[in-house]
Amino acid sequence: MKKRMVIALGGNALGNNLVEQMEAVKVTVKAIADLVEDGHEVIVTHGNGPQVGMIQRAMSEYHKLNPESPNIPLSVCVAMSQAYIGYDLQNALREELLNRGIDKGAATVITQVRVDPNDKAFDNPSKPIGRFMNREEAMQEAAKGERVMEDAGRGYRKVVASPRPVEIVEINTIKALLNNGVVVIAAGGGGIPVTSRGNHLKGMSAVIDKDFASCILAKSIDADCLMILTAVEKVAINFGKPGERWLSSISINEAKRLIQEGHFSAGSMLPKVEAAVEFASSGENRYSIITLLEKAREGIRGKTGTIIK
Ligand code: ADP
Ligand code: MG
Repeated sequence: MKKRMVIALGGNALGNNLVEQMEAVKVTVKAIADLVEDGHEVIVTHGNGPQVGMIQRAMSEYHKLNPESPNIPLSVCVAMSQAYIGYDLQNALREELLNRGIDKGAATVITQVRVDPNDKAFDNPSKPIGRFMNREEAMQEAAKGERVMEDAGRGYRKVVASPRPVEIVEINTIKALLNNGVVVIAAGGGGIPVTSRGNHLKGMSAVIDKDFASCILAKSIDADCLMILTAVEKVAINFGKPGERWLSSISINEAKRLIQEGHFSAGSMLPKVEAAVEFASSGENRYSIITLLEKAREGIRGKTGTIIK
């Protein structure tokens, strides 16, 4: 059965720096091309944590060296990350598809996503971005007025506001490309957060969670499936603890109960399961899959991953 699907790529699909990204996308585009080859209509989204962190740091260092040149807002850094990641992905995807004899375009849409200026996330920054720091580096950043936080036992990172996406601004452009057979890369890094004042869109200093942006994108294009590709093959209860159990299929209600019971870490698995539940709840035949990047094809064939329906 041919499906229309949003594939959300996690950090492991892109690596942590330029060299890693060029290597990682070769593997990533194989997973995407498998689905295209099977006849599915595919739209790709991705995270941008390390990349936007790198760009923002580079921009602020430039500003320090050239104080007369204004500092670059985070929204512009997100736009730069979409272009840089999109360039690598569309280039590698083009090559992989041509190698398989598939002559389809791949194109990146610089995507703005409207957020609510009154979203309470703006008062409570919670989204870790950029490289991992040790405690000492983190304390130095904090002393400079940056918000820093311990990220799921992996070290310290900067944190920024992470408002909920309300609407994809370029949705009609994305649909037009999709309907013409193009493999679209959109809403990268969760999209560029903007608020609207009449016809004017203003960039916000925030990073939208890519899992939530992927969910709203999947709803907007009337997708059948939201596929979240990450670094684990399945979602677990009691993850990393005694009684750990990997889940193959869960209902929306079960997933909601497991969220309540605290099985999923905030900032990593929680937004994925929440986005998966929201998409699966939004229409009769809609479902979500969370699985390993390399297992995308097996996942859509129902052979692995965690299905939420
Ligand atoms: P991505 O970069 O793909 O968004 P994250 O690292 O943010 O990925 O989140 C995925 C990670 O969440 C997994 O690799 C795993 O280490 C962690 N995780 C936390 N809780 C769970 C859980 N209950 N089941 C599976 N993985 C979990
Ligand atoms: Mg992540």
